Amino acid sequence: MKDFTLKSIALQDVRVIRDPIHNYITIDNQVILDLIDTPQFQRLRRIKQLGGTSQAYPGGEHTRFSHSLGVYWIVVEMVSKSVIRNCISDYEFLCAMVAGLLHDLGHGPFSHSFEDIFGDNHELYTVRIIKECPQISRILDRISADMVEDVCRIIEKSHPNSILVSLVSSQLDADRMDYLLRDSYFTGVSYGQFDLARIIRCIRVKDNKLVYKHSGVQAIEDYILARYHMYWQVYFHPVGRSYEIILKSIFKRIKDLYSRNFDFGDIEYLLPFLNGTVTACDYTNLDEAVVLYYFHKFTTCDDAILSDLARRFLDRDLLGYIDIDSEDNAIVDNIKARQKIRGFDVDYYVGIDTQQAVLYHYYGDSHQIGEIEIVKNDRLVSFLEMSEIVGAIVNSKKNKEAHKIYFPK
Ligand code: CA
Repeated sequence: MKDFTLKSIALQDVRVIRDPIHNYITIDNQVILDLIDTPQFQRLRRIKQLGGTSQAYPGGEHTRFSHSLGVYWIVVEMVSKSVIRNCISDYEFLCAMVAGLLHDLGHGPFSHSFEDIFGDNHELYTVRIIKECPQISRILDRISADMVEDVCRIIEKSHPNSILVSLVSSQLDADRMDYLLRDSYFTGVSYGQFDLARIIRCIRVKDNKLVYKHSGVQAIEDYILARYHMYWQVYFHPVGRSYEIILKSIFKRIKDLYSRNFDFGDIEYLLPFLNGTVTACDYTNLDEAVVLYYFHKFTTCDDAILSDLARRFLDRDLLGYIDIDSEDNAIVDNIKARQKIRGFDVDYYVGIDTQQAVLYHYYGDSHQIGEIEIVKNDRLVSFLEMSEIVGAIVNSKKNKEAHKIYFPK
């Protein structure tokens, strides 16, 4: 694809989207514009970014649609820096933009609980949707017969050009940078804030890798701590987790009832997941609007457990919780026994949740793509060696963990 130029797909009328995080997101080429208009991408308007967390932070109602546009835009801003722009071709730039835009296509409704029960991996589905849905592959095929594969390899982290992979998935990638700023803005907390512009200004390329200038260490430190605090304050909020546990129990109950030939009425869009014949198209038929409609119907179904769980979910009648030590079997047994006496089936009404957020992954000498590297005196040094704060925490080997048990109040 040496002869491809971005100029050949440039829009006469550049489109501008107003965004609360990046102010203006610019679309200047036909491929990105066409991809945004596909039904698969528009579906992301019906998948919320934060799932259960919006139950704790009611402002957090934003969707994967605006997040995906934000990731696309951070990729554009990073690549537009001449240090990167000079080492990648127009075709590679386009592949990176597309990978950033489409990286979350495979998220299911209320993603994580859904994935846990139906065993689907959203990354795998993203790749399947890009390959199998003609509305998308057709747009990429117009540029090159290899483009579908090249975009998927960036998303799967197997692309030979590590710069492209690092832009979309590494410990300092466009995905994480957008979701931290966006989730922080919409939940109303101050934790996820960091200096995106400064980090982008410090990007360098060395040995064909994305690395950072020495003077950017504090900005990166701030970003890593921002992410760590967002995990403990927002993503692991017990109200959000309680909601996820009910959600998981609903999906589990549906699965269990299905194996006993329970009559659900119409659950057409869930059937492929229950009988294990999911196509990429089935996958995109399912969004949160459809699932919420089924939950409404379940509140009056003949199964007492499913109807109660669905009602709890819709009315935010969540489970209570207490903190436990991971080893605390006596307390767990005791709570289960008490809930049994109260008439609750503990398979659906008692859940144990373990939370662990790793501050920073250090891969040692293997120098994997996820590693953040700093250029100092023209030499590459691991970020961990350069950051006193992150280095001290990682070296202390204190990985903060929390365990909670959830049960009806
Ligand atoms: Ca994402």
